[in-house]
Amino acid sequence: MVFLKENGAFNPAPYVTRPTMPNRQAIALISEHGDPAADIGKEEAGGQNVYVRQVGESLAKLGWQVDMFTRKTREDDETIVQHSPHCRTIRLIAGPQEFVPRDRLFEFMPAFVEAFQTYQAKYHYPLIHTNYWMSAWVGLEVKKTHNVQLIHTYHSLGAIKYQAVPNRPPIASTRLDVEQQILEQSNCIVATSPQEQEALRTLVSHLGHIEVIPCGTDIENFQAIPKSEARSQLGFKPDEQIALYVGRFDPRKGIETLVRACAQLKENPDLRLVIVGGSDPTQPDGQERLRIAAIVEGLGLSEQTTFSGRVGHDRLPLYYTAADVCVIPSHYEPFGLVAIEAMACGTPVVASAVGGLKFSIVPEETGLLVSPQNVGAFADAIERILSDELWAKKLKKQASERVQRNFSWSGVAAQLSDLYRRVLAQSIAHEMLVGERPTDPAPTMTLHTKTLTQVS
Ligand code: UDP
Repeated sequence: MVFLKENGAFNPAPYVTRPTMPNRQAIALISEHGDPAADIGKEEAGGQNVYVRQVGESLAKLGWQVDMFTRKTREDDETIVQHSPHCRTIRLIAGPQEFVPRDRLFEFMPAFVEAFQTYQAKYHYPLIHTNYWMSAWVGLEVKKTHNVQLIHTYHSLGAIKYQAVPNRPPIASTRLDVEQQILEQSNCIVATSPQEQEALRTLVSHLGHIEVIPCGTDIENFQAIPKSEARSQLGFKPDEQIALYVGRFDPRKGIETLVRACAQLKENPDLRLVIVGGSDPTQPDGQERLRIAAIVEGLGLSEQTTFSGRVGHDRLPLYYTAADVCVIPSHYEPFGLVAIEAMACGTPVVASAVGGLKFSIVPEETGLLVSPQNVGAFADAIERILSDELWAKKLKKQASERVQRNFSWSGVAAQLSDLYRRVLAQSIAHEMLVGERPTDPAPTMTLHTKTLTQVS
């Protein structure tokens, strides 16, 4: 077990067991492939990892005892990572301790359930918040034997993803089934935008309860700093015009559209394209990175393009602030954390008019929305922002104000905490009415009633 030192570094445990907190209600967050303790920005490590980690840590600050479960993907990874005294990541052994692509992961989910059950037997989590469809399946399995309340966040929706895929993979029908079951059988779905809620109702089921609670961002970390300072720290010239991409290397992220749009703007000698994200070429996302690098070279953009590799959240504010515009050319984006991170730093965003990006970005006020994969439209929108300094200044101000008002993690966690309390209170009321179910672990009920009022 490792513990966080004041400065954020991991430290061998000063104590070997978790401190007992009789007044804290333990809850479980499940994120089978998105390890909350992982390096963000690599393939399979993106928004979901950030969401679970930030939500977990913020909920712990609000008084919950948070255990976040994921699959162990490397033998030498710690089994338990303690992020703060009341929030930890637990890596369960389910299948080989190596990276397995998402479309081949489902066969290891029964083992994940089995491994989770040993913790469930010990801690009697009365509420499980699952993330992504395979975790939803785990939650539904656990519910068969325990009286647990289920909350689910999709992060990505098969019903949308497969619309654009001509040959569906064999796992598609299982995924679509599970996505429908969790909507109809969970206590509540957390949609991260009204657009996602609408998609669920139109494409998945009219049954089930949905509440909209957006994703958030760390507004203490993502803040505007003087552009000149950020550029000098990163070695970019003061007179360059920087278009920035931040995210994973995945064809669905549409980096190719952005590169081609920049090629259309090549006559602007000051334009620089900065691409942040990805790991080294030997990693699973390396292929897409090589493909993008080849397009950059083919279009004669090598001189004007910087591949910065993966950058941690500690240094990302420098990149956002150094940029004149942040571009999110995704084919689909359920929420898109990068949009609110950039806006929090006062950087206008040009993004595809898809999914949650239509919620976070207000066109003409905090950035511009254009149709996905439309190279010309991206080029025009980028050019509009780069060529009108006065307007860009207004966008910057409005962008950061919008994030401060609507998208802080603490605000998101407060809404989730309130939802959890309501769901648990309803389950207690229901059990009092109909009597305890035979599968109920008795201590859970006692703990509920004692602690619900103490959690904000
Ligand atoms: N990210 C990062 N470093 C990088 C690239 C990305 O920390 O080099 C983070 C980024 O800041 C954001 C997350 O990865 O918090 C990506 O989330 P988003 O919702 O935009 O996309 P997803 O990866 O979920 O598709």
